[in-house]
Amino acid sequence: MDRQAVNHTLQELAAVLELRGESAARVRVVQRVARSEILATGRSTALDELREQVPPGLVEMLRIPSLGVTKVRQIHEALGIESLAELEAAAADGRLAALPRFGAKTAETVLRGIAFLRQATGVRLFHHAREEIEAVRLALGELEGVLRVEIAGAVRRRCEVIGRLDLIAAHADAAARDALIHRLGQAPGVTEIGGQAGAITLRFASGTVVDVLLTTRERFGFDWIRATGSAAHVTALEARARAAGISLEASFPDEASVYRAIGLPWVPPELREAGDELDAAAAGRLPDLVARADLRGFLHCHSHYSDGTVTIAEWAAACRAAGYEWVGITDHSQSSAYAGGLRAEDVARQHAEIAALNARTVGTRVLKGVEADILADGTLDYGPDVLDRFDFVIGSIHSRFGMSEDEMTRRVLTAMDDPRLTILGHPTGRLLLQREPYAIDLERVLRTAADRGIAIEVNADPHRLDLDWRMVRRARELGVMVSIGADAHSTAGVANVAIGLGIARKGWLEPADVLNTRDAEGFLAFARQRRAVTA
Ligand SMILES: [Zn+2]
Ligand SMILES: [Zn+2]
Repeated sequence: MDRQAVNHTLQELAAVLELRGESAARVRVVQRVARSEILATGRSTALDELREQVPPGLVEMLRIPSLGVTKVRQIHEALGIESLAELEAAAADGRLAALPRFGAKTAETVLRGIAFLRQATGVRLFHHAREEIEAVRLALGELEGVLRVEIAGAVRRRCEVIGRLDLIAAHADAAARDALIHRLGQAPGVTEIGGQAGAITLRFASGTVVDVLLTTRERFGFDWIRATGSAAHVTALEARARAAGISLEASFPDEASVYRAIGLPWVPPELREAGDELDAAAAGRLPDLVARADLRGFLHCHSHYSDGTVTIAEWAAACRAAGYEWVGITDHSQSSAYAGGLRAEDVARQHAEIAALNARTVGTRVLKGVEADILADGTLDYGPDVLDRFDFVIGSIHSRFGMSEDEMTRRVLTAMDDPRLTILGHPTGRLLLQREPYAIDLERVLRTAADRGIAIEVNADPHRLDLDWRMVRRARELGVMVSIGADAHSTAGVANVAIGLGIARKGWLEPADVLNTRDAEGFLAFARQRRAVTA
């Protein structure tokens, strides 16, 4: 690591510590320790661990040129903002300007900073991209001459990070198209319009760049497929059309009519990637994808017993309101000191609270879970006696990310030897656009999970989306049970599930592949069976 990279890492470490409210003296001590570690190993375990404890959106905000630690903390504390998208909304609607020592000018600088960040990086997380494109879609839908406008591209395919933003818009005829292009150029916030006749690029003052494919109602079906991609999917589809002697220039008002003409069922956008999904479609082997209505249980959430902001009663109410039959509370375990992990002596108190709640409420049953740290030697935090008191256990790695692949794989396999482990949490530890996954032999981990009846998590935090969908597909091939974990720290995190569901669908999962589709008894039976078989 060169000197500049070392300094950069140390600066980020200091910023994260300050975001947590640590004193300047403490920051210097940690930096000193970290410096020698970084020089020796090329990375900082302390930073990796700290990143777990601070909402990732706050670290993103620090990259906005005009915002320092003090301002980011102030924004977080006063407005409860944890993401760039929320910050952008607050800068636009006046809440940011109203904060002490901010004002309209600062709010404007922040908006420009967010735009700068978007252009500088070019890729953003799925949930940011979806908010961005949905705002543009709604705006274009208001324009005269737009008959229909839909999201296409990687957002529609539910990719985890998004480069381009794509829309498709239908107009009446060629004359209407020219009028529409003129109107688009004049639309609010548009600073530049480029591209050629049918495929235009809009640049907005906010920094957003959107590609819009213009089409007619008659051609909407195939053009929506083209604009959605992937390139491999479209190429494979065109090859099949050619082989069948079908002209894709014909009139196809909707996507299903295109696939039907080629003798295929409609292929859900999440599956349109490598092109082999068309072979599965042709053979009648497309999965019957899991949907929101199939999910009965809400898993992986943190209450105020650790680093969540929500009481257990509030979790039960939020999950009932969202239509779940059961909720598995999983606070951090005692070794996660930074996350205020649940001390062994507080477990009984938490369980009594859950029992009392279950006795007096109907609608949503609360299950006693825990997110136990997988310690460096692969043992689960707390040990068997305490773990046996929980209904189920998610085991996760929150420390020592820098191990070799051999060491890390051995560590996780050791944890999987423990019959109390029900679910392996965020199995690669990645933070999208922030931290690479740790080195681990996932194939071995997945095979072991299939053998032992351990579920693998698709962590639905939009900064994680871990397990990666490509490996979700592999997990399904191996017969691994998958659990969709919200990893929610506030009730806003209930919305994570829809994002995780996109990844589950992208990994070809059917309802039977997903643990959350079981009723509470079915879920508990899964955990019990695991303990019984291997104990
Ligand atoms: Zn975790
Ligand atoms: Zn968690």
